Amino acid sequence: MKLSALYKDLKDTLGSALEARMILDDYAGVRWDDILTEPERELPQSTLDQIEEIKNRRLSGEPLSRIAGEREFYGRIFALGTDTLDPRPDTEILIEAALKACTSPPKSILDLGTGTGCILITLLSEWQESQGIGVDLAQGAIDVAQKNAERHGVKDRATFIQSNWWESVGGTFDLIVSNPPYIPNQDIANLEIEVKNHDPILALDGGNDGYDAYKIIFSQLKKRLNQGGTALFEIGIGQCGYISRLAEESGFHVNAIHPDLAGIPRVVEISCGDKQKKIDGVA
Ligand code: GLN
Repeated sequence: MKLSALYKDLKDTLGSALEARMILDDYAGVRWDDILTEPERELPQSTLDQIEEIKNRRLSGEPLSRIAGEREFYGRIFALGTDTLDPRPDTEILIEAALKACTSPPKSILDLGTGTGCILITLLSEWQESQGIGVDLAQGAIDVAQKNAERHGVKDRATFIQSNWWESVGGTFDLIVSNPPYIPNQDIANLEIEVKNHDPILALDGGNDGYDAYKIIFSQLKKRLNQGGTALFEIGIGQCGYISRLAEESGFHVNAIHPDLAGIPRVVEISCGDKQKKIDGVA
């Protein structure tokens, strides 16, 4: 089969020119320029067979990132595992918000429900002096996160521990971050097949109302976040009001709500309320 015909077949069958190009790039080393300049080029049968297999897996709902076993996040490549969420561009909002919120690099970072480790590892890569702990209930996620930390040269500053949220976590932190499971469990059946069949349920299911994980997180946040510290949480659609109230009732000040690329409130940024009260008092 000629390159131009292969490209057309992939594009039409998958309904995505972008994915067709990504497959040709990743599995045949063919770039967009090659498709334009050498449309008559024939590819070896073994490459065609492999691309056919990738196409069929993709057609059955498996995301390309899962097929490749890795995903780019904030400019770095992270390995995925069956116990990790597939990092989303939305979560990059949390990284940008953290980098802006911390005027000086935090000494200690805690990432609750770390998965691939993409949040913690990205922050440690951006702040060379910081140390961090990543927590996950799934040992499979811990193993993947450790490998990712090694890959990105931060393994000496990152500790990953298997823990049910706070259970095995000691100490206090300057920055606490989390992208916890927040999908209400009755909504899981309606998620896209790419999500519900390929992301681990543990990383998605936020209980009856979607807030189970946040309730546990906030139950200990006050004694775990250092005075003057910041915490940032990814939230689901429509959860901004509840989480802001939960934060305020737990003694925090809501500094900012950061929208995602679609304009949906996606990241809640909070700090210790005490500090804010003092500032208010002076003013
Ligand atoms: N952002 C994911 C989704 O919308 C869910 C991740 C999560 O629950 N933290 O599918």
